[in-house]
Amino acid sequence: MGRSRPAHIVVVGGGFSGTMTAVNIARLTEHPLKITVVNDRGPVGRGVAYGLRRPEYLLNVAARNMSAFPHEPDHFLDWLCTRSEFELTPEIELRERFVARQIYGDYLRSIAQHHLQSPGEGALATSELIKGEVVDIESGEHSCRVRLADGTAIEADRVVLATGNEPPAPLPGAEALEDHPAWVANPWQAWEHRLPHHDGSVVLLGTGLTTVDAIITLRALGWLGTVDAISRHGWFPNAHFRGIEYPEFPPADIDLAALGLERLLALIERHCAILHARNANPAIIVDKLRGYTQRIWSGFSIEDRLTFAHEHAARWNVFRHRIAPEIHAQITSSQLTGQLRVHAGSIARLEPSADRIHVELADGQSVRGDLVINATGPSTKFTATRSVLLQNLLRRGTIAPDTTDLGVHVDTDHTVLTSSGERSPWLLALGPLLRGTYWETIAVPELRVQARRVAETVLGGARAEEESQLQLEYMI
Ligand SMILES: Cc1cc2nc3c(=O)[nH]c(=O)nc-3n(C[C@H](O)[C@H](O)[C@H](O)COP(=O)(O)OP(=O)(O)OC[C@H]3O[C@@H](n4cnc5c(N)ncnc54)[C@H](O)[C@@H]3O)c2cc1C
Repeated sequence: MGRSRPAHIVVVGGGFSGTMTAVNIARLTEHPLKITVVNDRGPVGRGVAYGLRRPEYLLNVAARNMSAFPHEPDHFLDWLCTRSEFELTPEIELRERFVARQIYGDYLRSIAQHHLQSPGEGALATSELIKGEVVDIESGEHSCRVRLADGTAIEADRVVLATGNEPPAPLPGAEALEDHPAWVANPWQAWEHRLPHHDGSVVLLGTGLTTVDAIITLRALGWLGTVDAISRHGWFPNAHFRGIEYPEFPPADIDLAALGLERLLALIERHCAILHARNANPAIIVDKLRGYTQRIWSGFSIEDRLTFAHEHAARWNVFRHRIAPEIHAQITSSQLTGQLRVHAGSIARLEPSADRIHVELADGQSVRGDLVINATGPSTKFTATRSVLLQNLLRRGTIAPDTTDLGVHVDTDHTVLTSSGERSPWLLALGPLLRGTYWETIAVPELRVQARRVAETVLGGARAEEESQLQLEYMI
């Protein structure tokens, strides 16, 4: 990163990561500067997760752990208490609540409003929020030019990439379905108005958090048709549960980060068996690992990382990305009533058939849908990105994939490394783009720490060690 003071910083992406990076820069700067946030959809703050699409979507992390600021753990709770609907809720109950995601979006919007749109007198940062798509960034010696799809060019001293998750990877046969009436390629766009009659069927490709959202919406709408959910293992996310005391894990005499994948898995299996025998939920092991995940990941060899990503990630996600108990109860109820059928199998091909789509599975079965929603989760092969911006930066060597091709290659302070391994003088990145570096880089408890660290790097003084410690403290 260049040593000179930046006068203009452009943040690409206005979800949690981009918004909170801009806010931290505005809060921390000790000299006047300008911040521009460019976001291609929705208002700055909501991003993909906290939009206004459906009121029934809940956070999957309890309110006590959703502060946007790593140094102010009760910031979200304090804000919630100012809202009329929570005024009478005892704090002890509010801490454990899984609040509506729309409300969390309101929270982020209010932070953006306070720090970026209407900063108080004496604020050193001025901000501009632009709706548009960044398609390229051209390098000067110490600065750069950010190009938008509408032809606008913005000169900047630093640029932060906070572009979030990739869309789902393409499925075999999906290229012929682009305009098919039964095909929903993007599960985040409204599809409710396209539902078939109550004797029809909806097929959900995937059984992760996006599929959970879709089932909750179908229930909220009182839709009575059948729902088929398909994924390789057919596993739905687990529900949150009350933690238990299990001091035996991790064993005090074992350095988890030095074990490597094989020995780590053996250790986990041993402790899961002990917990099973005690009739306790073995998912507690995943909770206990969270404070160590990043160190374990950085201790893995490249082979270990790839093996974990390809062979164990599905199981990890089931235990790790848990959902609110009330949401889990709804999924279970849909299964018990027979409305929701779950299939374990690989999708071999999608075939249009008049107004319907047949989903053919590798074992020869076929499931027919009047509406088929692609909820397979973000694509994880970074060099296959469909972002025009990232493709352009990759082609020019401004960015490069990390060794596992799960994300962009960065240095410890989030400075992007070029294809020749040099630190970029002006480009930084955070968020889901850093999956290959951190593995866990998706949820607010990780991203708030990254947003602060990126702001400090941009302003010229990362305190990586202190921040790593913060990350461990607030992750659970
Ligand atoms: C449905 C869902 C529910 C979730 N629930 C929770 C939860 O309860 N708790 C939790 O901790 N985490 C949750 N998460 C994780 C969530 O991903 C993070 O909390 C966080 O919102 C990620 O923010 P982000 O800014 O990195 O990415 P995003 O929210 O994806 O934001 C990226 C933004 O950048 C924009 N963008 C991309 N490319 C460009 C470009 N070239 N030019 C301009 N703009 C661009 C995108 O349109 C988007 O607005 C959830 C995620 C999803 C998808």
